[in-house]
Amino acid sequence: MAARHRKYDLLDIIIQGFRDDGWNILYIEDPNNHPFRLKIYRGEESYDLRIYVWNLTHGGGAMRPADEYRIQITGVNQFEPELNGKTLILGWWREGEVFASFDYNKHVGALGFSPSIQIREQALRKAYLKGVAPWEKDNQEIAIAFRPDFIGENVRNLESLHSFGESEQDFDVLKEVTENPDEVNDTEIAAVAVERQIAVVSFKKKIRDNSFKSRVLTSYTNRCAFCGVQLKLIDAAHIVPVQHGGTDETSNGIALCALHHRAFDRNLVTFNADYQILTNESQFHKLAEIGLDGGAEKFNNDLRAVIHLPPTITDRPHVDYINVANDIRGWR
Ligand SMILES: [Zn+2]
Repeated sequence: MAARHRKYDLLDIIIQGFRDDGWNILYIEDPNNHPFRLKIYRGEESYDLRIYVWNLTHGGGAMRPADEYRIQITGVNQFEPELNGKTLILGWWREGEVFASFDYNKHVGALGFSPSIQIREQALRKAYLKGVAPWEKDNQEIAIAFRPDFIGENVRNLESLHSFGESEQDFDVLKEVTENPDEVNDTEIAAVAVERQIAVVSFKKKIRDNSFKSRVLTSYTNRCAFCGVQLKLIDAAHIVPVQHGGTDETSNGIALCALHHRAFDRNLVTFNADYQILTNESQFHKLAEIGLDGGAEKFNNDLRAVIHLPPTITDRPHVDYINVANDIRGWR
């Protein structure tokens, strides 16, 4: 029973990772059974998943490298594929809260006596810092180490990620993107085999977004700048929108709860260079005219007079960005 309980903890971490990335979950099978079978969906996208997961444990005796971690496969004689879906083989590195994903296609067929699959600690540590790190094993198998918030991206690109072992050159680009996303240019990405390009592009974007998001949320202590709510409902919003040339600097970001992010994007509320929060009276009038101003009073009462500011001055919204954003939105 103890073993079952530990598995269930691992499922919780997996589910939380998907939810934090905006995915919804349906169980295809009783979640007490391992491998876990579930459907994840977000917008128009959905995947059926079969998930094998074990804890990663350190070392395997004197004959093995000292920095090796492994999953010891128990209770499974052979991995079964998820037909019309994806099959994940995962290890959880508890010390650093990072997963390792192994390639199902390299482990088809009957498993031998006391089977295990390995990854090096170096990859796990990198993933902890950057979000994701690929690792090439001796047999051309590509293992991917990733933080739980990258689990959705890992699933979407699963087959192509594990295929990077087919090209040393493509693998180098993937590695560079996960380490220094800003230093990989479009020409380098265009040279990657077509079937692997999407993985490179989406990881580049995710790593950059993630860095922006984690910097902004940390500087605002995960608190909405307009109302103070935390509750893990907080987004990192761009002040000058990306499509208008807005940067990923922390000073072009502001932490907003889901409600106030939407209201900010819809131009219902903003803030000025003195950090005062302003509501858009003419918008409220328009909404009142069509009978859609329910909750307006509560909405207004819940707003702070000035935004909650990060303690570090350089993290605070830059005056120039505030003014540019308000110009774009037609506030001045
Ligand atoms: Zn809020």
